[in-house]
Amino acid sequence: MVDLQGQYSKIKAEIHDAVQAVISRSAFVRGKEIPEFEQNLARYLQCRHAVTCANGTDALQISLMALNLQPGDEVITSPFTFFATVEVIVFLGLRPVFVDVRPDTFNMDVSQIEKAITPRTKVLLPVHLFGQCTDMEPLLEMSRRHNLFVIEDACQAIGTVYTFRDGHSAMAGTMGHLGCTSFFPSKNLGCFGDGGAIFTQDDALAARVRTIANHGSEVKYHHDRIGVNSRLDTIQAAILNVKLKYLDSYIHARQQAAARYDRLLASCPQLGLPIRLPFSSHTFHQYTLQLSENERNRVQDQLRAAGIPTMVYYPVPCHLQKALAYLGYQVGDFPVAERLARTVLSLPMHTELSENQQQYIVENLLSALSDR
Ligand SMILES: *Cc1c(COP(=O)(O)O)cnc(C)c1O
Repeated sequence: MVDLQGQYSKIKAEIHDAVQAVISRSAFVRGKEIPEFEQNLARYLQCRHAVTCANGTDALQISLMALNLQPGDEVITSPFTFFATVEVIVFLGLRPVFVDVRPDTFNMDVSQIEKAITPRTKVLLPVHLFGQCTDMEPLLEMSRRHNLFVIEDACQAIGTVYTFRDGHSAMAGTMGHLGCTSFFPSKNLGCFGDGGAIFTQDDALAARVRTIANHGSEVKYHHDRIGVNSRLDTIQAAILNVKLKYLDSYIHARQQAAARYDRLLASCPQLGLPIRLPFSSHTFHQYTLQLSENERNRVQDQLRAAGIPTMVYYPVPCHLQKALAYLGYQVGDFPVAERLARTVLSLPMHTELSENQQQYIVENLLSALSDR
């Protein structure tokens, strides 16, 4: 699915120098590479603040903690996402409220949000899945009308560009009050372990998330609020400082690989290919097909037998996860997310994918589809 070794081998010397510099100085926690990376990342995203933390899940949790919410307050989000998005909501004693996704983009159907808003709704938490943005302009407009906070889960969409109707644009994760990303190794900007970051244009929120990520403390041994211990390692920041320079070329490589898949699969009308939106670029964290319900698993098995890995992101929508049974959601509540869970299949997608590999993948995919 990914080729982290191939990617690393091309920047090996630079990475080794960066890691060696950290080890030589032995400032493993809060070393100078942390503020350097935060500044570089903020500049790349054209965002006032980037605050690093231990992983993308913590980024979401710290963001929610910064909003001074009350137990039982409601957070509207997508049922078709990695479980972490919802897990942190529940962990903080808040209530996740789901809105079904669009069948063509896998992202929350913004036109259905309004009817899910109640007097307890405090936050809209859109997830930019697979590398494409949720339609933020109407969502932001709605958040202002109802006085709601917006936290973007941009863990799969770093570098994705959203274009507003008047033509101006912004990076995923920088449009809401807070935005979150993950540097998990397989993400589009991955480090060599766990890592995450929070983005905001708001000085007061930036100060608050920084404090929360550091035990609720601004002055050492003085604790103003309850926080957590969530830090990016200096070694990871040093690695990310190197890799950030290549992020645009990594995104370009993914987009080229996606265009090759599109071309190779164009002859196959029964396959749902990823669509391109007028308001969002696509950075192809995943290249995800939609198959028919009765053949998805068989096709996946047949590809596996040919040595081709594929993944189902995600086989169970969040509202039907056992851990959330207490919320009382039923089968049929979010039919689009439920159908996608039975039909999606993500093909190998990474920066090192070659035309030959893709030809082999597509030949096997087409032959699996034809012998039924
Ligand atoms: C990866 C991911 C997360 C969690 O990030 P971690 O760094 O693994 O904690 C959250 N939400 C989405 C959509 C993700 O893809």
